[in-house]
Amino acid sequence: MSVLRIEGLRAAVAGTEILRGVDLEVRSGEVHALMGPNGSGKSTLAHTLMGRDDYEVLSGSVTIDGEELLGRPTWQRAVRGLFVAMQYPVEVPGVRLEELVGTALRVRGQAPDGLRERLAAEAERVGMGERFLQRGVNVEFSGGEKKRNETLQLAVLEPRFAVLDEIDSGLDVDALRDVSRRIEAMTAEDGLGVLAITHYARLLTELRPDRVHVLMAGRVVASGGPELAETLERTGYEGLAAELGIETLAVTPPEEPADPFAEPGF
Ligand code: ADP
Ligand code: MG
Repeated sequence: MSVLRIEGLRAAVAGTEILRGVDLEVRSGEVHALMGPNGSGKSTLAHTLMGRDDYEVLSGSVTIDGEELLGRPTWQRAVRGLFVAMQYPVEVPGVRLEELVGTALRVRGQAPDGLRERLAAEAERVGMGERFLQRGVNVEFSGGEKKRNETLQLAVLEPRFAVLDEIDSGLDVDALRDVSRRIEAMTAEDGLGVLAITHYARLLTELRPDRVHVLMAGRVVASGGPELAETLERTGYEGLAAELGIETLAVTPPEEPADPFAEPGF
């Protein structure tokens, strides 16, 4: 049994504080959903957890079984069991998935024996053609193929905790079922702990979260059981915010100064 604990996490991007004190705790085998309006800081949380270097941590801590992850480079966070599936997975021309995953396994001290067969089997399980394994990672993949590919990597790397940033966006109904069933199996069979960022109750009917959290303007403003996702479907974020007496839903960076060259006379 492992615990991913996020405490009082505050982080800034480009000089604006986006995360304003986030507390969350996920245990092995649990599925937590994180919902929230656009611009509330969900992706910022995912990037900050993984240590993207243009995201500045202002305070707080992120631990797995008591061991601090903040301040460590991304690869060390991965070695300690954290995996983040990005909302917009990047293309890596010239690097095949086998090389990428093989390196990640070796860094963890695991020999990548039988990796090619494992990747092929997992590709089939998430409905991704094997031919995709021959290309550079994500190169010329459709949105849905990228999400299947993230799931494939998750399955082969077997982290302790996975943060899935809108893994369901861009997936058709069949792909959504393949991807969520694979993740569900990991939580049940391997004790994977999941923090699933999503807008859609649809994913949650497949993944069946233990807890649902709502992020607004960089803070978790509501936490509850699966019924919270249903309430949100009904009320929308604005309705929930009104109920909670919250005025700001998103974090808005300061306005750009007006264009001085737009004045007549220039
Ligand atoms: P969400 O994923 O909840 O829609 P994000 O975390 O992507 O929201 O964004 C939260 C706020 O942070 C937004 O106002 C966004 O414009 C800003 N932001 C996020 N990343 C960056 C960045 N790299 N540079 C500048 N602003 C950013
Ligand atoms: Mg986002």
